[in-house]
Amino acid sequence: MIKKNKITAAMILLGLTGGILTGAGGCIVKGAAETEPLKVTLLKVGKADAIAIQTEKNTMVIDTGEEEDGEELVFYLKNQGITQVDTLLITHFDQDHVGGADTLIESMDVERVLVPDYEGTSTEYQDFMITLEEKGMTAERLKKAEEFELGSAKVLVEPPVSCEIKNGEAEVDNNFSIITTVTHGKNRLLFTGDAEKQRIRQWMKEGNVSPCDFLKVPHHGVYNTALQELFETVAPEYAVICSSNKNPADPQTIELLKKYNTHVFQTKDGNITVISDGTSLEMKQDLEH
Ligand SMILES: [Zn+2]
Repeated sequence: MIKKNKITAAMILLGLTGGILTGAGGCIVKGAAETEPLKVTLLKVGKADAIAIQTEKNTMVIDTGEEEDGEELVFYLKNQGITQVDTLLITHFDQDHVGGADTLIESMDVERVLVPDYEGTSTEYQDFMITLEEKGMTAERLKKAEEFELGSAKVLVEPPVSCEIKNGEAEVDNNFSIITTVTHGKNRLLFTGDAEKQRIRQWMKEGNVSPCDFLKVPHHGVYNTALQELFETVAPEYAVICSSNKNPADPQTIELLKKYNTHVFQTKDGNITVISDGTSLEMKQDLEH
């Protein structure tokens, strides 16, 4: 009897967490596959981006921090019991985004690599390309927007329309940043790489723009005039800025976010975890980290 009770309790729990309801006629009503939680972790890696997005069985990584952050990212993922990354997305090839990519690819089974369609110039980019070649892998250079599933979430990746480097503008590759929207149930989470004014405006004109619940603020919180349009349109409930004590976000950027009643977190204060249950978001920050 005790055993039976335990099973019943387990089944009720499964029903609650899995969103599966058994109707009166015995048929299974699929409530919402989205209730599988989605977890996003933004690691404290200084003024750099290293972001893991996890569902129960699938993992996506957006950017890998600086060269020395690769090991921390791998440590975090392994600690979560993850051995395989379904999609690694590098938003653009600056060293604070592509730096740890070689370490990640060497240490884990990475299924798919998405990058913008241009050649990087940094040593970190070269190391990344060499490691891919050694592993017999090829990065897919995104030429147009693409949507794919990550467990019960939908991921939309939008590259810039053109990655043509004009003379003397080799340093503006922030504006080649791929922009990612993750939709999980009713929640929308937006990741903007290091997009600056020009790219933000281009995306707002041509991209899949709508209000979001969560925003990874572009370019480490460096202020520019396009942010007002972005924050006003996207109006996120929560925002995270990937920053360091040495390079905190610009105060104008934080002021502006607060104007739109957004709760602001910075990775300089510790790892940040966002948990989506498909209807609302929960934010946690590990302040001791
Ligand atoms: Zn950056």
